[in-house]
Amino acid sequence: MSLAIKNKFISFSILRIGMCVLLCIFVVFLAVMGQTLFYFYFGSGNHFVYYKNNLAVHFVDVGHGDCIIAQLPDGKVAVIDGGSDYYWNRVNNYIRTRIRPKHKRIDYVINTHAHSDHLDGLNHIKATYTVGTFINGENCDSFASITEYFYRIQVFKGSSNSSDKNEASLIVTIEYASQVFVITGDAGYMAELDFITSPSASAIFGDGRADMLTTYLKVGHHGSQTSTSTFLLDFIKPKVAIVSVGTLYNLPSSITMGILDAYDVETYLTRDSSHIVVRCDGNDIKMFFAFDNPPDLTAIWGVVFVAVIVLCFIDLKKTQHIVV
Ligand SMILES: [Zn+2]
Repeated sequence: MSLAIKNKFISFSILRIGMCVLLCIFVVFLAVMGQTLFYFYFGSGNHFVYYKNNLAVHFVDVGHGDCIIAQLPDGKVAVIDGGSDYYWNRVNNYIRTRIRPKHKRIDYVINTHAHSDHLDGLNHIKATYTVGTFINGENCDSFASITEYFYRIQVFKGSSNSSDKNEASLIVTIEYASQVFVITGDAGYMAELDFITSPSASAIFGDGRADMLTTYLKVGHHGSQTSTSTFLLDFIKPKVAIVSVGTLYNLPSSITMGILDAYDVETYLTRDSSHIVVRCDGNDIKMFFAFDNPPDLTAIWGVVFVAVIVLCFIDLKKTQHIVV
């Protein structure tokens, strides 16, 4: 190899190595940006910013339990059930990072019934946040209604005198424009029957109005077969059902899931989808899923990084062979 060719080869090699280094830096940059954007999108990103005049309802994944948080169109926040003690840190973290990053006030707290997988988290909320109105399933009257700024929250209590707390569970509706959320706690068939025969529920769904609404049902009692009667589904005609469920007690029941399937209701489980968020702007509805932590993409980016280096090396070897 002559000296000129050798120098040309060395400078060419340096150029190639330099390009490899730049490419690697670029890949690392993409990795960092990708991870950041991924977190922003799926983690605590812009989905969780409060949008004025929007209603966002969050079905927080609290394993076997219920925790539903509503960001209301006027900026207020309602929490319906708070999950069990075990999930309090998760719920608190969710509220602090995604719902109330700036101040510690929860405007409405509603406990459907006094079972620990619904009540415990609310006791922590009372101890941690300033709570506006607290509606307790144990003590509340048969009916309560909060109407503000084009949205309405209604709380229904059945007539059951049963000692079964599930049957005494409150059923909560949130209405905004043509969107309705029906949150049933652990209510069983009797409580559902009381609900659909109440004048206020008839005012929402009766006389064909159910067909004109987009209704989301938080399925009762974690998908147990004691809830989600066909007469409830016939009455409210839900488009989407959310089952707040963990891995205990073989729930949801295959019977309940079969009924929802037969009624062609799109059904999601918090156990599978993690936190489920539905946002309505009065016209359109968007539904998305959130994770506590974004998946760690380090391994994927590492493979890409090594692949780039190997490709550069193979290319360099080819170049060396041709020049020599
Ligand atoms: Zn429960």
